Amino acid sequence: MPGFELFGAEEQKEVQDVLDNGVLMRYGFDPMRNGHYKALELEKDLAKRMQTKYAQVVSSGTAALTVALACAEIGSGDEVIMPTFTFVASFEAILSVGATPVLCDIDDTLTLDPKAVEACITTKTKAVMPVHMCGSMADLKALKNICNKHHLILLEDACQAIGGSYDGKPLGSYGDLGCFSFDYVKMVTCGEGGGLITNSEKYADRAHKYQDHGHDHVGNDRGAETHPFLGYNYRLSELNAAVGIAQLRKLDHILEVQEKNYTILRDALSSIPEVTFRRVPETGVESYAFLNIFLPNEDIARKAHKALGSHGVDACFYWFDNNWHYYKKWEHLLDQKSLGNLSKEIQSGLKKSNTSFPASDAWMGRTVSCLIKLSWTEQDVKERASKMTEAIKSVL
Ligand SMILES: *Cc1c(COP(=O)(O)O)cnc(C)c1O
Repeated sequence: MPGFELFGAEEQKEVQDVLDNGVLMRYGFDPMRNGHYKALELEKDLAKRMQTKYAQVVSSGTAALTVALACAEIGSGDEVIMPTFTFVASFEAILSVGATPVLCDIDDTLTLDPKAVEACITTKTKAVMPVHMCGSMADLKALKNICNKHHLILLEDACQAIGGSYDGKPLGSYGDLGCFSFDYVKMVTCGEGGGLITNSEKYADRAHKYQDHGHDHVGNDRGAETHPFLGYNYRLSELNAAVGIAQLRKLDHILEVQEKNYTILRDALSSIPEVTFRRVPETGVESYAFLNIFLPNEDIARKAHKALGSHGVDACFYWFDNNWHYYKKWEHLLDQKSLGNLSKEIQSGLKKSNTSFPASDAWMGRTVSCLIKLSWTEQDVKERASKMTEAIKSVL
């Protein structure tokens, strides 16, 4: 998965362009640039690859989610439905615009369960945020129908599934807004960075302003620009954008390599009747960033995870016990350990969320995910496949 495995001369060349003219910022300094506008170029490339009208790059995936929520007018008193299995960025972004995160069960797609989403909707709900964890997607059609019925925004967090698709559309482009992360461990990386895509002119127009202090970007004198609304600074630097340009060009190659490696491993594990695979919704195509398997029960899953490690199979995760990705260990959220005061709405909303999620626990307790790397040779993958098979069989 990490795009940094493929760093090379292409990234160096793009960065050198920026260093040659010394303009590290995306706005202004036109005469010095020698025609290089890396952030703008990355946005054009991203919109083209994702088949959307607009793209906005920002300083992180968390920032992309924050900007997306702000563009959709989500703020104080609003509720956003998010899954119990995700990265902490999901609730951080929601809290940062003053809204309340509402945790919701996942199903065997390892993402939001549409039925559970319907049960989470209240009069305060403004958006549903599916998170396409570990290379595959939520049942987007069902979620879109729910959003249409209740007039909610569908915001896709595609940070871990860039390049996958659903119903023939790139992940992130199916909902009203979609977000990507280009942080250091993602498939496309620029060190730190993120991107937002949309087909809405209104959201795109708000996004470029919001991520740059509300600047209207009219004319070529930043000091003279007006601020139609409050914003923040989530800009991406030209150096980061330069790396992103070279990396995004490698996305289709990355997908090809991942699919090949994933398929070898999956075929091998398919020979074990006790191993089943995460459900990919109909019409969905994974990014193949991870191979996600279910073991028959929690006890066997824990043992299998341990056995994989002791058989020398690295980069396998048992998310159920993970501090970053599963609600059980989000004590800082559930116990409301914020530095300053949270609003009354958020305080009472989080109390409501601070319950148990047995349906999520049943799936996550059985799940083991293994990262798919790009640098493996075919021999490496085949050896890995036999070690994985051996490790899992040893605990059945
Ligand atoms: C990485 C990630 C993010 C946040 O991205 P950063 O660029 O690290 O801020 C958000 N959501 C998911 C699912 C992620 O994996």
